[in-house]
Amino acid sequence: MFKVNPHYAKLPGNYLFAEIARRVRQHAATHPEADIISLGIGDVTLPLPPAVVSAFEQGVREMGDAKTFHGYGPDFGYDFLRQAIRDGDYAPLGVEVALDEIFVSDGAKCDVSNIQELFSDDAVIAVTDPVYPVYVDSNAMAGRAGVYDNGRWSRLCYLPCNAENGFVPPLPDRPVDVIYLCYPNNPTGTTLSRAQLQTFVDYAREHGCLIVYDAAYKAFITSDAPHSIYEVPGAREVAVECCSYSKTAGFTGTRCGYMVIPREVCGQGDGGQPVSLNAMWKRRMGSKFNGVSYPVQRAAAAVHTPQGAAQCAQNIRYYLQNAALIRSALSDMGYEVYGGVDAPYVWLKTPVDSWAFFDRLLTQAHVVGTPGAGFGPCGEGYFRLTAFGDHDRTAQALQRIRNLG
Ligand SMILES: *Cc1c(COP(=O)(O)O)cnc(C)c1O
Repeated sequence: MFKVNPHYAKLPGNYLFAEIARRVRQHAATHPEADIISLGIGDVTLPLPPAVVSAFEQGVREMGDAKTFHGYGPDFGYDFLRQAIRDGDYAPLGVEVALDEIFVSDGAKCDVSNIQELFSDDAVIAVTDPVYPVYVDSNAMAGRAGVYDNGRWSRLCYLPCNAENGFVPPLPDRPVDVIYLCYPNNPTGTTLSRAQLQTFVDYAREHGCLIVYDAAYKAFITSDAPHSIYEVPGAREVAVECCSYSKTAGFTGTRCGYMVIPREVCGQGDGGQPVSLNAMWKRRMGSKFNGVSYPVQRAAAAVHTPQGAAQCAQNIRYYLQNAALIRSALSDMGYEVYGGVDAPYVWLKTPVDSWAFFDRLLTQAHVVGTPGAGFGPCGEGYFRLTAFGDHDRTAQALQRIRNLG
């Protein structure tokens, strides 16, 4: 028989969301009258903004006309979109990126999980704990994570984030090749200040590490936290940045994102020589990626128009109002809450372990959230509520939690 990738057998399986779904199903079956409200979803609920829909439609019509039809697109994205990203997302921050440093993709999950193909097989990976599981799983599938035992991968370097350190990850305590950072953070909803991010950039420069920076939630920033790692001096040599239209503009079902890889970012080749990650990624995209459809890139470009940007900002304000409501209601009730200011996630400290708290909320309030333990060992004792729901339903869920006492 042919041999399969042995690393897949080491994966623990998607225990978290499967287990949540199982418990919700069971509760619904035994309490058919219960009106369950989910504050657990990590997906947007508001529709695409009108300016985006109109550009999308126009793109489709162009595809149906011989005079404006488009076949295969450019491997790295149409220039109209890359220009819109450069001028709309980076220029206002005072950050210069060149068009050939921007790679349009079908979303940030694919980029943050595919980038590891460019690392050596034995690269040592650091992740924050708790963490968005994709960084860990993609490296585990490539055999870089070691073995999974008792909730931990033996070869990963975990950077614990908790209330005690203000959810600011410590620097790695041993040599690592790559550090994954996500700010504003999923699941904690917290950010890093410029100075805190500078510490990581300085460390990466001194130790020759790469930072993979996931900025999927940058559009939710209301404080003065940096929107891009490139706002921090020196980051161009050591960081790649992944962005997405999913949470920014409601593209979870439309699919578009992009990655920035500055020309300066170099890893070490077999002979010790510097190798450009930008050149490697171009090679990879040319062979393995078919690009994003023309109408979708037109829709994404509309996000950067004044009208589109205003409509997206309005949707984000709606979600952030939910987050503010969750934050204030829970702290009134005496919970310790974090995040929710620059992110659609509120992270709270649970009075009991996170699965017990999940069960209490589900069975007594018919409210669904996400137990922190599902995001890593340091997530235990915490719980994630999301602000992507309907405003009235969110308020109703909070009233029920209040009634629990
Ligand atoms: C939602 C999310 C993304 C976005 O993924 P897409 O593939 O663009 O939909 C990326 N990173 C994190 C941490 C997320 O939560």
